[in-house]
Amino acid sequence: MSPLIAPELSELSAAMPPRAPEGHVLISFESVTKRYADGTVAVDNLSLEIPAGQTMVLVGPSGCGKTTSLRMINRLIEPSSGRILLDGSDITRSNPDQLRRGIGYVIQQSGLFPHRTIEDNIATVPLLIGWGKGKSRGRARELMQLVGLDPALARRYPHQLSGGQQQRVGVARALAADPPVLLMDEPFSAVDPIVRANLQDELIRLQASLHKTIVLVTHDVEEAIKVGDQVAVFRPGGVIAQIDTPQQLLGSPADAYVENFLGFDRGIRRLSFLAASGLELDDTAVVAQDLPAARALQVARQAGASWLLVLDTDRRPRGWAAADELASLRAGARTGEARLLPYGHTFGVRTDSLRAALDATVLSPTGHAAGVDDDGRVVGITSYERLRAAIQAADMAAGTAADTAVDPAASTAAGPGRGSVPDRAGQAAR
Ligand code: ADP
Ligand code: MG
Repeated sequence: MSPLIAPELSELSAAMPPRAPEGHVLISFESVTKRYADGTVAVDNLSLEIPAGQTMVLVGPSGCGKTTSLRMINRLIEPSSGRILLDGSDITRSNPDQLRRGIGYVIQQSGLFPHRTIEDNIATVPLLIGWGKGKSRGRARELMQLVGLDPALARRYPHQLSGGQQQRVGVARALAADPPVLLMDEPFSAVDPIVRANLQDELIRLQASLHKTIVLVTHDVEEAIKVGDQVAVFRPGGVIAQIDTPQQLLGSPADAYVENFLGFDRGIRRLSFLAASGLELDDTAVVAQDLPAARALQVARQAGASWLLVLDTDRRPRGWAAADELASLRAGARTGEARLLPYGHTFGVRTDSLRAALDATVLSPTGHAAGVDDDGRVVGITSYERLRAAIQAADMAAGTAADTAVDPAASTAAGPGRGSVPDRAGQAAR
């Protein structure tokens, strides 16, 4: 039964401020241990600080104590020892029903009431706290829009929706009374990978405007890295191996267990968190299609380049011309008359990551890729050496001041409040 159901409730939670200042610790575990009746130690001496307005992901293999940890926050499970503080107060001193009014809860199979319509499912808490039918259903419609559900689905029943739609309803229901805290237990694990990626993107988008304090449990490390501001990696036995930002986790796993858990490719994956704006692009081997080929050949020789990127009259890329071929064109020919190799995919210098820039470079037939501005106009081209320098510079900046490696203008493109990730929402595709 969902903890959202608390029939005796008649008002919104007074236990918590509607939105605590961001960055301040809202939930803290102080040496919390949970030993079940059969002796199983599910959570062992856990200390964890969860900042307000951020997404904290608890990740680890099955049975490592994630769900137990989560359910201690809304007191569905009580700790055996230690304390959990919510905004500075010990939650064991609060009334559990009142506590849960300020905590939305989303579970794997959405946990919807099968015999209630979608709008009435979403309106569960508003109805319970006495908003009345009209206002509650109005709120339900508002939330359906917020989570990307067609309002035409309002009168349907849960079994008439897809798994992904049901999960959206679950999120809408958890948000109905606008709780400051959202607990999510494997919310996307039961849906197929494409739907899961969409739901993750939606969560990131929602969180950019809602700034809830989210604690999300998953066994999927890619999901953790994608949606988390902070990620706590659990070992078996309910012990934390590392708590860090996704970028720090990928760049500096604390030990072999974390490194292994993160899996292959972490060197490349962490580049998603470094902005391409840190890359110094070269425009010496970039020429207009109207330039006489003989002149372009000189440009290539001066630049020491065997390829030139040829642009159209709008400065958009057309393709690569081989310097050797320019020499063989008829006298008076324009550069654009040369046979051009496809330029592959470009990357946005302001909005994309170094991962996108590296990918474009790897895929380019010339080993150089074009960085473009927001209008698709070429700014300059990459090289492996320039990529190496940008990665090194970002690492050095991260070593002295975390997160300064990223252009703030670029991070706002990913949504306000999303920290320093230029293309996180699109990460799965990049
Ligand atoms: P996770 O969510 O990380 O998969 P859980 O928190 O559900 O892990 O479980 C942690 C450990 O506690 C597991 O070994 C599990 O079998 C055990 N456990 C969970 N619930 C109970 C219970 N009610 N009684 C006894 N053991 C339990
Ligand atoms: Mg679990």
